[in-house]
Amino acid sequence: MRLQQLEAIVRRVSELHPNYLYFTEQLALANAGTSGEEEVYFHLQELTTPHRIIRNMSFLNDAQHRHEIDFIVIFPSFIMCFEVKNMAGQLHFDLEASQLIRTRADGVIERFPNPIEQINRHMRVLSPLFPNIPIIGAVVIANRRAIITSKPPDFPIFHADYVHSFIEKNLMQYTESILDLDKAYARLISLHSPRKEPLSFTLEQLKYGVFCKKCAIKMHFGRGKFICTRCQLQDKYAHFQALHDFRILVDTKITNQQFCQLCDISSRHAAKRLLRFLSIKQRGKYTYYAIPEQILTMNLDESNDSLMR
Ligand SMILES: [Zn+2]
Repeated sequence: MRLQQLEAIVRRVSELHPNYLYFTEQLALANAGTSGEEEVYFHLQELTTPHRIIRNMSFLNDAQHRHEIDFIVIFPSFIMCFEVKNMAGQLHFDLEASQLIRTRADGVIERFPNPIEQINRHMRVLSPLFPNIPIIGAVVIANRRAIITSKPPDFPIFHADYVHSFIEKNLMQYTESILDLDKAYARLISLHSPRKEPLSFTLEQLKYGVFCKKCAIKMHFGRGKFICTRCQLQDKYAHFQALHDFRILVDTKITNQQFCQLCDISSRHAAKRLLRFLSIKQRGKYTYYAIPEQILTMNLDESNDSLMR
């Protein structure tokens, strides 16, 4: 959800928004994080030993502080937690000062929170849930161009291509089957409660219009369809992306007037026709259209009226 929301923000929120630059930076970070996790997941798929994988586990501890674990892999004899870092440059893990120092190729030095402490924090919460079960944490560096210059000797930190060998090594060490994979999986999934991002924008903070999915420029509306003046793409349903973004950023329901403003459509009758797929909700004197979560994959049952291109 977080990545999807940031994508919607960068596509749809006005560049004049005071935090716009921050949002573009967050989107770049989220994209890097996701591709780093994909790299690790690729190596996990090579496992032939029975296991269960939980990705992006998110839960609150008893003190209502949030834990976000990139990967939990459950084996019959132990549980493994991976914290994935997708960063290039030279990485120096300084345990005493609890920091990760990164020296970029251009010489810039940056400080990041210590991922070892993040892992230790997760393990402190998981250990009481699984007493007598070994829980092993590791930091995985998913960027092939990163160089680990120093690390504490007793904590596993390695590149993604070592994930498989690291697991094999632990499977040799811990051989006693003590966990029911499905029960342990169900136990952890029952804790999972993803962060709910508040809808924090107003219609006035958004860019108006329907944008071409190829060129990202504003499309022209006429005769019931949206047309891109640059690539000539014609799409009767291009406004669905705008509705989807509105749902993520502002509200799950929209009035005809708000829709006209959002999509820059002058005729409320044309708007009514464009919104005919959505169910109508009455709230006092206002009529709203409910925007379904799956609007982008909605099955439009209009015979002889198929999507153009
Ligand atoms: Zn176009």
